[in-house]
Amino acid sequence: MLSFFAGTFFCCALIAIQEALLGVPVILRSLPWCFIFGGGLGVLLYRRHLQQLQSSRPFEALEGQVEEQAAELDSIHQQLAMLHEIGHSMTASSHLNDVLHTVTHSAAELLKTDTVILLLRDEHDQKLYLRGAYGLSGAKLRNASQYVNAYVSEHVAQSGQPIIANDLPNDSRFPLPSSLQDSLLACVSVPLRIADRIIGTLDAYSKTRRYAFSTTHIRLLEMLAAQSAIAIENARLYERVAQANTDLERRVEERTEALMLANDQLAVEIEERRRVEISLAKERNLLRTLIDHLPDSIYVKNLQGKFLTANPVTAHVMNVAHSNELLGKTDFDFYPPDVARVFHDEEQQIMQSGEARINQEVPLTYRSEETQGWLLSSKIPFRDNEGKIAGIVGIGHDITEQKRIQEMLQRHNQELELLNQMYEMLHACQSEPETYTVLASICQQFFPGDAGGLLLIDCGHDTLHLAQSWGEFPREISPTARQGFFQVLTHDAITLQNPPLPAHSLYQDIFSFGHPCLCVPIIAHQEKIGVLVVFDPQATAQTMISGIALTEKLTLMARIVAQYALSLANLRLREKLRLESIRDALTGLYNRRYMENVLEQEQHRLKRRPAPLSIVMLDIDHFKRFNDTHGHDAGDVVLKELGRFLKIQIRSDDIACRYGGEEFMLILTNAALDVAHVRAEYILTELRKLNIHYHDHDFSLTASIGVASFPEHGQQLTDIIKAADNALYSAKASGRNQVVIAPR
Ligand code: GH3
Ligand code: MG
Ligand code: MG
Repeated sequence: MLSFFAGTFFCCALIAIQEALLGVPVILRSLPWCFIFGGGLGVLLYRRHLQQLQSSRPFEALEGQVEEQAAELDSIHQQLAMLHEIGHSMTASSHLNDVLHTVTHSAAELLKTDTVILLLRDEHDQKLYLRGAYGLSGAKLRNASQYVNAYVSEHVAQSGQPIIANDLPNDSRFPLPSSLQDSLLACVSVPLRIADRIIGTLDAYSKTRRYAFSTTHIRLLEMLAAQSAIAIENARLYERVAQANTDLERRVEERTEALMLANDQLAVEIEERRRVEISLAKERNLLRTLIDHLPDSIYVKNLQGKFLTANPVTAHVMNVAHSNELLGKTDFDFYPPDVARVFHDEEQQIMQSGEARINQEVPLTYRSEETQGWLLSSKIPFRDNEGKIAGIVGIGHDITEQKRIQEMLQRHNQELELLNQMYEMLHACQSEPETYTVLASICQQFFPGDAGGLLLIDCGHDTLHLAQSWGEFPREISPTARQGFFQVLTHDAITLQNPPLPAHSLYQDIFSFGHPCLCVPIIAHQEKIGVLVVFDPQATAQTMISGIALTEKLTLMARIVAQYALSLANLRLREKLRLESIRDALTGLYNRRYMENVLEQEQHRLKRRPAPLSIVMLDIDHFKRFNDTHGHDAGDVVLKELGRFLKIQIRSDDIACRYGGEEFMLILTNAALDVAHVRAEYILTELRKLNIHYHDHDFSLTASIGVASFPEHGQQLTDIIKAADNALYSAKASGRNQVVIAPR
């Protein structure tokens, strides 16, 4: 026995030295080997000792004892070998359940018993729980586990000392429930220990016999427990590591998956961002191109009114060479302070209220060009990403030309209206002088403040007379001026509508005070009627007159004149027609129809207000013979001359008409019989003196005259005429060439 332990100790020492030298923790794992080789070494030493004893003295008495001890040593050796095997099989698997299975089965085999129970302390609640069993199952195992947990194992776990209870049914320390009375008869329990920590208990039971266990069993069980504790701890560690690895792997997998997902998402986002950036860049380029090439002014200003961006048109409007010159500057850097202040205040109001101002017409009074400019301006507040107003976007459209056209249209409309008005007024005119007033009135409305005159051609077609004037137009026109105006008529009026300004229309220094005049000839149906003259009394010869304004004025005058000329010509034509309808074409005296109308009116008048009226009937003596002698044409000339003669002989209120071929009637209103008689005698006297020259011949003539009067010869004019006619016949009958008063 001593040799056995000495051998074992020697092996252990060797292993310890090896561990110390190599630093490898092998002592526990190599413990079974120590027992095996140490035991083997002990047996060899013991046999050598016996041989020495045999050679020295007789040993027969001891032979039986020796054999018994040798058998015991063999048994121990077998147990140690078994322990080694168990240790080996326990390390074969790193799974806890496998290890627990091995431990319980090995314990049963090692201790040659029928029941084994293994409890382990839970790391969290520190309580013991059944983790392995051999030889029990079902309700029996449950009952046994509760019992063991409550008594045997609890006791061992608390004390840390192994126990043997070889008569459990009668052991008062561990009162056995009745259900287990025939199941658990003897028991040995050892703690499972790792260093100072008790991790559980390993119990062996016997169902068949009491006093089944000895201290040898405790020692064996303790050796097994030592290996088992390590194996369990290792398995637990392994499981923990495996679990940790699994967790780690799972986490790594999850993380990897998440990362891959994130990566994919990132890739998508990067691609999306790249696409958006390209699209944004495209849009930016497009926008920039649009802004730079739009014919409108576009700019952006910040809250302080500083230009953030501006296009070339804005630069042009602001009168700078390049839009970059505007950046970072305000209107105060470019405009007069009062103008800039107006813009600034307006923009501040827009940014504060958030309300845009759309399509406002802004005058460009400040720009360098000569003409007044106009801008259609819109200003819209813009917001940053947080929704706060960050400045304004401004758009300005140059509407100068539109404005000019609009104003021109308005002016033209007004002109058209005035021209229409003139047309209607002229149309309503009954006489030519009325048209002069209309023309003067229209010209004063078209050219307020200007002076003007209407000069018309005389009947003789060789001079102009001033028919109408307005404003400061001189009443007396010098012969030179008259001549100048007359020259205007030698030009074609059409040319006036085509700028450049026709030289002939502008006469300077025509009047003694020297004003530049605009003259337009009045021509209708190729007939030259007169000249319209307009001038500005404020203007002098030195005054610069804008070519455009002058041309427009002339064009307008030409329109007025065209309208007026037509109306005047029309009026004259109407007058001519009217005269032709009431006058005799040959003699120019009123015709018989007109005479009848007049007599009818006079008849009415006499009824209302009776007044003397006389009728003188005149017939050329022997006119048939005259015709026959000198020809019909000569007769016509005589009739024509007689017509002129009679017109001269009567007063303006009297009426002379051709009553028949060579028979004439004079209606002398407000002339009593005696007055008419005197007048008739006078006419006859003058007629006798009349010398008519035709084709180198001089002719004279006589006539017979009959006179009758209202009221002396009747109340009805027809009666008066009849009486006069009768008197005429009487004159013929009495030898002609005389005046006869109708008998009362
Ligand atoms: P008496 O002295 O009796 O009046 O004789 P008389 O020849 O004048 O009278 P009569 O009535 O017989 O003739 C009128 C003539 O007047 C006839 C005609 O030839 C002429 N006569 C009428 N109208 C015209 C006219 O328009 N032109 C011309 N040349 N002659 C006319
Ligand atoms: Mg006659
Ligand atoms: Mg006659």
